[in-house]
Amino acid sequence: MNANDVKKMAKSLGADLCGIASMDRFEGAPKQQDPRYIFPAAKSAIVLGFRIPRGYFRGIEEGTYFAAYSGMGYGALNAIYMPMVMRELCCFIEDNGYEAAPVPNMYPGSSILFKTQKDEPNRSRSVDGEKPHPDILVDFRVMAFAAGMGEFGWSKMFLTPEFGPRQRLVAILTDAPLDPDPLFDGKICDRCKRCVSECSGNAISATETEGITIAGRWVEWGKFDAIKCSIAYRGGNPEYNPFMHSDAKPEEFQGKYAGNPELDKVLGYSGFNSSAVVEGARGCIRACMIHLEDKGVLKNKFENKFRTTPPWRIRPREDDNTGKCTKEYWE
Ligand code: SF4
Repeated sequence: MNANDVKKMAKSLGADLCGIASMDRFEGAPKQQDPRYIFPAAKSAIVLGFRIPRGYFRGIEEGTYFAAYSGMGYGALNAIYMPMVMRELCCFIEDNGYEAAPVPNMYPGSSILFKTQKDEPNRSRSVDGEKPHPDILVDFRVMAFAAGMGEFGWSKMFLTPEFGPRQRLVAILTDAPLDPDPLFDGKICDRCKRCVSECSGNAISATETEGITIAGRWVEWGKFDAIKCSIAYRGGNPEYNPFMHSDAKPEEFQGKYAGNPELDKVLGYSGFNSSAVVEGARGCIRACMIHLEDKGVLKNKFENKFRTTPPWRIRPREDDNTGKCTKEYWE
């Protein structure tokens, strides 16, 4: 079994993209995010990409149907489809005499708090005082970069030449010594900043940057505010959430991580896998995808443009300055 056998099998099972990283490319990773602590004898990380079909965003783009992206593009990909493909690929690798440890895109016991994206030492205990505390939270974008599958966009989304920002990622660690892919040398993001201007949560800075070194390369993106993103993507902005309860007070959401139960009560949309994603990745996926499709740089091409009319936005009544989402708030 060589790298090509694994890639061919991954694609035949349903993955759209497959790249391979050698484990030394994770040298320097923070201990709580280092995949080598999951499988210390691993020789290779197989990273799989699954496209989110463009049509999954159609109903949200029109403002009329939000279930497809929430259910199938997010929850079901993470919790059903990707694990099924990973299981079959793990079995294929183990039929060839090597162990295969899946790293699904789920966070049941994450050692990194999403609200701060920092280590949370009280979330769990190290089993021996030396190892990182479980669960290690790998960054799939970092893994995909190390596997040569694409680059970080200004939005901090991972961009591939095939689908731009429109995929979800998982990984399998194996002790099979597979040839790694070269790091990506192309250029996809042109710093157009449409991800910034169309993000409904103002979560991406237009000017400030942050970055890290991966496999010896400096990788940079626009400074990203995870709390603002968490509010926006779950529908915390009334201008982009037609389901928000009439007694919600959006101003009270600010600065709070959106996983809190009080906020969930008033957002009005319960998506599969407890992540409503009702905002539909307006800036980081849709705006970016539209821009990259217009430039003609993506391999997944379409006969027709995704957006042909200005995007919708629910406007407050002119006489409403209460900040409260009464029914009269909406036009
Ligand atoms: S929208 Fe433009 S700046 Fe933002 S990630 Fe996409 S290509 Fe880069």
